[in-house]
Amino acid sequence: MAEGRVMVRTGEAIVLRTWPFHEADLLVSLFTREHGRLKGVARHAMRSRRRFGGALEPMTHVRATWAERPKQELARLDAFEIVSSPMTARIDYARVAAIELIAEVLDELPEGAVEDAVFRLAVAVLTELKLGRVWMPVTYFCLWMNRLMGWMPELGACVVCERDLRSNGVWYSATADGVTCRDDRRPGSVFLAAEAVTEALRMFRGTVAGLAEEDWPKARALELRRFAIELLERHLERRLMCARALTRAA
Ligand SMILES: [Zn+2]
Repeated sequence: MAEGRVMVRTGEAIVLRTWPFHEADLLVSLFTREHGRLKGVARHAMRSRRRFGGALEPMTHVRATWAERPKQELARLDAFEIVSSPMTARIDYARVAAIELIAEVLDELPEGAVEDAVFRLAVAVLTELKLGRVWMPVTYFCLWMNRLMGWMPELGACVVCERDLRSNGVWYSATADGVTCRDDRRPGSVFLAAEAVTEALRMFRGTVAGLAEEDWPKARALELRRFAIELLERHLERRLMCARALTRAA
């Protein structure tokens, strides 16, 4: 590729966030299937709805066309064609918080994330994120996100004494890797019951669509969800604001 030459690309992407930029432009953060995170400018997007239409809502799955120039940080976003748009389905506070939590996590991922696997996880979870049925998909997303990033500890055994803990439950700490037995627990550790560990192992084996056939009220896997979110927050080194919002949802 010649220096300075514009490279036009097309591919699947998920819209994460937008910000007003200059006069009538929008700055858009995207997660692309092949190239991971991308920031670009949608020119005149505030004024003209023609090229972008409703495609700039968070977590809209689009086929995007954009142009990149070497050494330029911002791409030029040319056109978005909507593949699916979760915000057009029925929403409530919990569903919006769950959708925005996924966007927030994707937006904070460090460079070098396994793009294709993360992308497929996000799309599969979004499909199941239905009104009144958000708790399992969002838990599934957080657990799998940790696993895909290599942050999920082995849950079946104590990291110190290697004892099998599948029927005892485990202790985890906000400051140390791995889970432990009761005897080896670190100061300030939190207990995760054996049932929660079993649910986690089921989520690692099953598909989100398959698990969505079961009933998952908010209280089910509550501790597991808290564990997965805290693990994400520890590795992302930030608080997930949408996780706090989700916790408040009825
Ligand atoms: Zn131990």
